[in-house]
Amino acid sequence: MIAKRRMTMMIPIRCFSCGQVVADRWEEYNKRVNLEKQDAGAVLDSLGVKRYCCRRMLMGNVDLIDDIIDYSRR
Ligand SMILES: [Zn+2]
Repeated sequence: MIAKRRMTMMIPIRCFSCGQVVADRWEEYNKRVNLEKQDAGAVLDSLGVKRYCCRRMLMGNVDLIDDIIDYSRR
């Protein structure tokens, strides 16, 4: 039996293109953009994410783990 629990930080640790660590900024980005509805570009600027390859890592990430875990093996 798999215990259901809230998982967070399901984002790649590093940018696929340049290798910069981006996962440490996910929680702050997610809170400000998806919950507080702040402008994504301004939030990325304030977090110091400058390259567009890294920006797409945060902007394109969708937290799907809670949906996927329903289909896992029991
Ligand atoms: Zn990058």
